[in-house]
Amino acid sequence: MIDPGVLEIENIERHLLGKFWIGKPKVEGVKAWLVDHGMDGTRITTHVDSVQTALGFHQDADLVISAIDTRRDRDAVNEWCFSFNKPAIYCGIYPKGVGGHVFVVPHPHDACYMCAELVMGGQYEEKLPLSYGIELSPDFSTFVVPALSWAIHSLSADTVGFALAYLQQHDVEPQIYIKIHTPWQDVLYFCDKQTTAAMNGYVELQKTMGLINTVRMIESNGEHALQIRRSTIALRLEQSQVCPFHSRAISLDNI
Ligand SMILES: [Zn+2]
Repeated sequence: MIDPGVLEIENIERHLLGKFWIGKPKVEGVKAWLVDHGMDGTRITTHVDSVQTALGFHQDADLVISAIDTRRDRDAVNEWCFSFNKPAIYCGIYPKGVGGHVFVVPHPHDACYMCAELVMGGQYEEKLPLSYGIELSPDFSTFVVPALSWAIHSLSADTVGFALAYLQQHDVEPQIYIKIHTPWQDVLYFCDKQTTAAMNGYVELQKTMGLINTVRMIESNGEHALQIRRSTIALRLEQSQVCPFHSRAISLDNI
């Protein structure tokens, strides 16, 4: 477990650890919790350090699980996983407790975290911390965000499911798994006619089968947006032509 952070008071309501651990390293607290629940402590290694420093000690890792908020550190995890073609799972929570996603990246050389980011776009980036969750204090002095709790627990459970399936040698497909719990919310944009027609067909199929629609298409400024609500969808993760890792790999191969 790698985390340079200490437990803050605003973490408490959504965290495994209680008040005793405020001001102390999160990874040490979680290790103590696991040992208290029967895990063998000698099998747990903790680093109160950055991923950039600590990942290098674990080149024998079977799987990397990232639940990191900051773009720079997630990028560093991806770069490391790409270098060694290490499988990874990335869990991310959307602001204001509306949901989150899990990127399942079993073969970074085929398609990596950055490929997934390029599909999703950056609409949720650069908004932290002021719109991260629901701020209860008008002067933003405290970031207690109860709405995040369900999303964190629910997406964590999904992440663990993917991790266990992978470690038990099941066939886990590269995917972008999205869970959302809101009124209609944009998740993807299309402009090509073929994809738009296919998505419209899918939306119509839900109606035809008598299902409550959890997916719809809307049009604005010549772009079609796929919206979803209170639902879970999974997109196949494919290599992006503009991913810096993959465009570089392709040109090297060509040489
Ligand atoms: Zn990539």
